[in-house]
Amino acid sequence: MSYLTKNYNRKKISFKRGKGSFLYSVDGKKYLDFVQGIAVNSLGHAHPKLVKTINAQSKKLWHVSNAFVIPEGEKLAKKLAKKTFADYVMFQNSGAEATEAAIKVARRYFYSIGKPKKNRILCVKNSFHGRTLAAIYASGSKKMTEGFGPKVGGFDHFEFGDHKSIQKKITKNTAAIMVETIMGEGGIKVIPDWCLKGLRKICDKKNILLILDEVQCGVGRSGDFFAFEKSKVKPDIVPIAKGIGGGFPIGAVLMNKKVAVGMTAGTHGSTFGGNPLAMAVGNSVMDIIANKKFLKHVKSISKYFLENLNKIKEKYPGVIKEIRGRGLLIGIQLHTDQVNFIKKLMDNKLLTIRAAENVVRILPPLNVKKNEIDQALRLIKKVCTEVN
Ligand SMILES: *Cc1c(COP(=O)(O)O)cnc(C)c1O
Repeated sequence: MSYLTKNYNRKKISFKRGKGSFLYSVDGKKYLDFVQGIAVNSLGHAHPKLVKTINAQSKKLWHVSNAFVIPEGEKLAKKLAKKTFADYVMFQNSGAEATEAAIKVARRYFYSIGKPKKNRILCVKNSFHGRTLAAIYASGSKKMTEGFGPKVGGFDHFEFGDHKSIQKKITKNTAAIMVETIMGEGGIKVIPDWCLKGLRKICDKKNILLILDEVQCGVGRSGDFFAFEKSKVKPDIVPIAKGIGGGFPIGAVLMNKKVAVGMTAGTHGSTFGGNPLAMAVGNSVMDIIANKKFLKHVKSISKYFLENLNKIKEKYPGVIKEIRGRGLLIGIQLHTDQVNFIKKLMDNKLLTIRAAENVVRILPPLNVKKNEIDQALRLIKKVCTEVN
């Protein structure tokens, strides 16, 4: 028996080793891993530079308290600020912590300027911001909140794409609008640039902060460093996690200097957040991904992948309803439930993962090679033939 709680419906497969885009199972099979820990292993498995970094750092220093200056964290914060809209960075350990800290930053900002009642956060219904108590109520999903006791207040919701209801749901107590720039768990739904611009406009008009959750779509996943960059919109607060650690748990909240005024000494903390081991890895990931040439590779390989997925869609219109996504955050929306399709892909040694709305979610490492994409395309086509 397993002594682990049953809160995951786990597939009966384990891996002993990974290299780049591939995973090797305990029973000796080789899989093309297009899950990558759900967009976490942004540089694939066992990237030589990351292996070197973590080995070197592990011999020097793992952890010191945030009561002291941590040079590796100072360095990573500076890189993130120089590369993005942000003036300040606050390190956490996970996505849920980062989104929750983002909410705290927004509320604390209005508190600090004498508007403590401006504290409500407007979110998309059935979005995903993590599994802590506040984050599940921010996500506004019945399934995630059921049975977990008193509702955590302070969240309002609108339906994805319902522009009218956004206006209606805003009150004088709305502190922030928080949305995923590209909905991940919710089915790979991209907020169009003109909508992001519209959101920014509403926020400016009504003195509301814009929080863009880039935990899944950020750090190069979209082909730009952040998915919102293409729209030229500047958010106030951006939680990140998944990809920035390349497999090591790191979360962070990026913010502009306006909102950072609220985060005075003692207002927030995290024992592990930003420790030397995590920060050493984060710096190495950042050095590779923030590079223009690297992001160009993500864009061009994404274009190739999406074009060919659309060709498969045209060939099997009865199986595939839509190809969604941007960069290497891709969804194949099927006409019917995707569980069988994902299982068949796995039988063919291609790992993918579900998302809402019958979507097969595909998350290759950002340094994926063209021949690996070709291999995936062949297998997807094969499974389409099988289920057609
Ligand atoms: C995964 C995810 C989170 C939560 O991250 P955890 O590290 O699992 O806590 C939050 N927001 C988005 C958009 C995510 O995809």
